[in-house]
Amino acid sequence: MYNFNAGPTVLPAQVLEQASQAIINYNNTGLSILEIGHRTPLFQDIMQEARTLVKELMQLDADHEVLFLHGGASTQFFQVPINLLNAKDTAAYVDTGIWGSKAIAEAKLYGRVKVVASSKDKQYSYIPKQFSIPSNTSFLHITTNNTVEGTQWHYLPTDKNTLWVADMSSDIVSRQLNFNQFDCIYAAAQKNIGAAGVTMVVVNKNILGNTSRPIPSLLDYRKHIAADSVLSTPPVFAVYTCLLNLRWLKAQGGIAAIEKINNQKATLLYNTLDALPLFKTIVNKEDRSIMNVCFFIENSIIEKQFLDICTQENIVGIKGHRTVGGFRVSLYNAVPLSAVEVFTEMMKRFAHTYA
Ligand code: PMP
Repeated sequence: MYNFNAGPTVLPAQVLEQASQAIINYNNTGLSILEIGHRTPLFQDIMQEARTLVKELMQLDADHEVLFLHGGASTQFFQVPINLLNAKDTAAYVDTGIWGSKAIAEAKLYGRVKVVASSKDKQYSYIPKQFSIPSNTSFLHITTNNTVEGTQWHYLPTDKNTLWVADMSSDIVSRQLNFNQFDCIYAAAQKNIGAAGVTMVVVNKNILGNTSRPIPSLLDYRKHIAADSVLSTPPVFAVYTCLLNLRWLKAQGGIAAIEKINNQKATLLYNTLDALPLFKTIVNKEDRSIMNVCFFIENSIIEKQFLDICTQENIVGIKGHRTVGGFRVSLYNAVPLSAVEVFTEMMKRFAHTYA
């Protein structure tokens, strides 16, 4: 199958094989990974290695802690302001899509929110470039890759007078960034990190402890850090799958190496798209996402035919998000270049029948 799902999505074959084996017999212990206690040395080693690998791959400094938490990225929409925003303070948000707007709605429950820029005026088809951040801002929140709309930040704001928080759910570990510039990063695991059921948070421990509200233990980053990310029972199998996937990424040559391949995949697909007038896109060229490529065909009958032919050819997961329609082809780390070659050949063959 050629799997272009937006997440959960394709994982490397060897990760699936190793994860399957661990369900039967984890590391020749005679126990399934599903049967081991989260406080055993067996699992402690898994959690420890996963956290260390993230630090190594993202080149994080000693102040940045890595956590594997429950609740999906959607929980971070409120966990971030609970930990970082006082009721009377203001957080700045850039509204670049459906996920960012959900984050804004949740943050408003815990403090003041100023939307400093939005691309809603043009169906979220671009990334706002110029905006100013008020001086008394607690943090600036951006969504580095907009999974539904297919836009991505290819530059970062220059204002470092406030804390930076980023939802990197759909482009984490896919490209090199100075991750230490961010004070808090969160990402749902089910795209580039591993399996659904766990969320990765990277947080600068020095920024915590400045809110006056009582924080329930399971939402308090400080308590998770103190407990080495095993405050309560973590999703053991999902964390293990992340570890296998992170090992795979390291073996590929890490983020620098995967970024090169990701760029090749995206270039091939966008070049094909631009060369075939049948396919249209509204996304601003310089803001195009390397991870989620969104386009459509103006005639809904032809759109349906294209989808059907792709299904026949074992190409899956290309239907656009239900709110925007059209197509969305996701090119996460585990998607091989060969799959994009198959898909772009399909696009060409199909377009020529309508030429
Ligand atoms: N933020 C972004 C950018 C996403 O793409 C998603 C999921 N597609 C979410 C947040 C929500 O993640 P979850 O479903 O894990 O809560």
